Formats: sequence, structure tokens, C-alpha cells
Amino acid sequence: MQINNNKIVRLSKSCLSKIEATAVERVILEDGYLGMGSEVDLFEKEISSFLGIERESVVCVNSGTAALHLAIESILPPDSEGSEIVLPSLTFVADFQAVLMANAVPIPCEINPDNLLIDLEDAQKRITEKTIAILPVHYASYPGELEKIYEFAKKNGLRVIEDAAHAFGSYYKNKKIGSIGDVTCFSFDGIKNITSGEGGAIVTSDRQVLQRVKDARLLGIEGDSTKRFAGQRSWDFDVKYRGFRYHMSNIFAALGRAQLSRLNTEFSPKRKLLAGLYRELLKPVKELKFLETDLSQIIPHIQPILILNGMRDSLKEYLLQNSIQTGIHYKPNHLLSLFGNYSVQLPTTEKIYEQILSLPLHPDLLQKDVEMICNTVIDFFTKYSD
Ligand SMILES: *Cc1c(COP(=O)(O)O)cnc(C)c1O
Repeated sequence: MQINNNKIVRLSKSCLSKIEATAVERVILEDGYLGMGSEVDLFEKEISSFLGIERESVVCVNSGTAALHLAIESILPPDSEGSEIVLPSLTFVADFQAVLMANAVPIPCEINPDNLLIDLEDAQKRITEKTIAILPVHYASYPGELEKIYEFAKKNGLRVIEDAAHAFGSYYKNKKIGSIGDVTCFSFDGIKNITSGEGGAIVTSDRQVLQRVKDARLLGIEGDSTKRFAGQRSWDFDVKYRGFRYHMSNIFAALGRAQLSRLNTEFSPKRKLLAGLYRELLKPVKELKFLETDLSQIIPHIQPILILNGMRDSLKEYLLQNSIQTGIHYKPNHLLSLFGNYSVQLPTTEKIYEQILSLPLHPDLLQKDVEMICNTVIDFFTKYSD
């Protein structure tokens, strides 16, 4: 029996072509080396020129979570037992786990209900003498008023780790995310704006952080990144800090390079077009609300909407019955057993969690798919709303 999945409109997917297949095939058939080597070197170079920054400032790893972990680990002061990092509860669990991996303490805080970005007034209340950093998440690719975050950090003597997993290729005031700021982390997992299969990158101009993460991705072996890019390895070496197996492989990098070559020409315009179409077609629906954003500056990674009349779950069910997948980005972390299980109250976050719904968004989606989805949403409210 053949299972026909084609009719389901997927929430997200990898958008792959012959270009990616050829790139991976080249590494497999020609290089005979699948580890971290010249392809990763080239991917980092290409990311740096895409972002308009120095080549040294980009370090690729094997996931966005690994990028966050190493970024946090490398800014911790020595003997930093119990260092705290303030971050929005409404984010992917990867952020919270990354803080734990670095032996730091995640302090969940509120979001602004208009854009679901970190609420600095609430964050201020959660700062203690143990706080070392703030971790804003560029939710749905939008950085909001990034300058305010840096003013806040300066005032409180904090580092900033930007979770830009949604925001690769997006701008803040005409400057690329990652080309400004303290430490920025990207993800190239299967469904992000570009994918390398799995992967991520740390971007910073801080030399000390760069040295730490370059070594830490290869078990802490000093200077091994440079050697491997030249096709060599270290046999006699020193290790000063703990390290991990987080380096990117040549296969991942080849796939990532192929995707990067398609971002400006294919993925970015398509994502912007579809996100704009959603806004236009669903504008008349009074039961729902779009988040504050700026489509001229961002490459939208997800398409969240807020359902204001308490019918989010029935809409989700109705869409699924009509073969449309949706998502909920995200279950707040302070509701999870590991991170508090309601031990802090974050009323805005908890209210938003009941309202959010992400509609399908990926470059293989057609305009007529978005029209069909919007019509289905409108049908639902016409039938069931009073
Ligand atoms: C995808 C994602 C991550 C983690 O990236 P991985 O590459 O999946 O490890 C972190 N934060 C957010 C907001 C993400 O969407």
C-alpha cells in the first residue's frame, strides 16, 4: 500500500534540490574525508562574507544548541558556580538546556505580548549579583529594538548572547544580525532559513570567545581547528579547558554552502512573499492578531498568529482535519518539570501560550497553498465564531 503524504500541507520542511545533492556527492566521492576540513573552512568564509564580517569571527558547530552551549560556556567567569542567565521562557527548550550544559542557571522571564520578545522591564526585576548575561531570542526572525537590549546589558554589566536561530539573513536597521552585537548563535537544522542537515554557528568579534569556542568544539585541543582546515591533525598538544565533540563535518558544510547560495535568490524572497500574503489575506479576521514585525528587514522563519477568542485548539484541530499542519512555538520552559514546573508565575507568557499558533511556512509552499490555508481559517471563524 502506498501512503500518500502529498496532500498534507506541512508546517515546515527542508527545501532541497540537485544543488545540495551534488555538493554532498562531491564530498563523498572526491574527498574521502568526512570530518572537519576544507569544506567547513569554506562554509565559515562564505558565512562571514555573507554577514560582512571578518573571516575569523565565524565558528561552525554541529547544532544550534551546541553553538548556544559553547557561547555560554566561553563567557562564564572562572569559578562561576551558579551564574545566572536571564532569558524568555517562551523559547525552544534548546536555550534552557544549553544554559544547564554550561553549568549555569536559566532564569525565565516575560515577553512583550506584541512581538513575543524579551520584556526588559521584567528582566530587570530578575537581575541579581549572579547574573552574567541576557539571552534574547529573535522570535520569528525579528530582533525588535536590539539597541535597547544592549543599553540594558551595558547598564547592568551583562554579556549578550543572541539566539538568532530563526534570524539567519535578517537585518536590524539595515545591518545583518550577527554583524553587530556581542555573541550571536545561529542554527542550520533541517527546517531553518538555511540548513546544513544539522549545524549551527557562533559569531562574535570577541577574540577570547573565538579562541575558546574554536578549541572547545574539538575536545579543547589547542589550535586543532587551524590544523584540520589544512588537512592535518594535532598529535602533541595542550588542553586548558573542557571541550566537546561539536565540530561540523565536511558533508554538513557542503550542504550548508549549497543552501547559502540559494538564500538571497530563492528562500528569502519566497518566505517574505508568503508571510506578506498571510498578513494581507487574514487581515479582516478580527479573532486573530499578527505579531509586530518588519518584513522589509527579516527573512521570516515561522508564521505565528495569536487566536484571541479562546479557540486556538479547535482551530488547530480544524486545520488538521483539512490536511493543514500547524505548530505551537513554544511551550514555555518554566512549565516544564526540569525548569520550575510553575515555580515562577509568568502570566503574560502563560496567556500567550494559549493563543499562539504557527501556520505553514517554507519555500516549497505555493501562493495557492497559502490562499487555501487562509480560506480554511476564515471558514472556521465564519462557522464557529459568534
Ligand atoms: C532551532 C532552534 C534552536 C536550536 O538549534 P538546533 O540546531 O536545533 O540545535 C535554538 N533556539 C531556537 C529558537 C530554535 O528555533
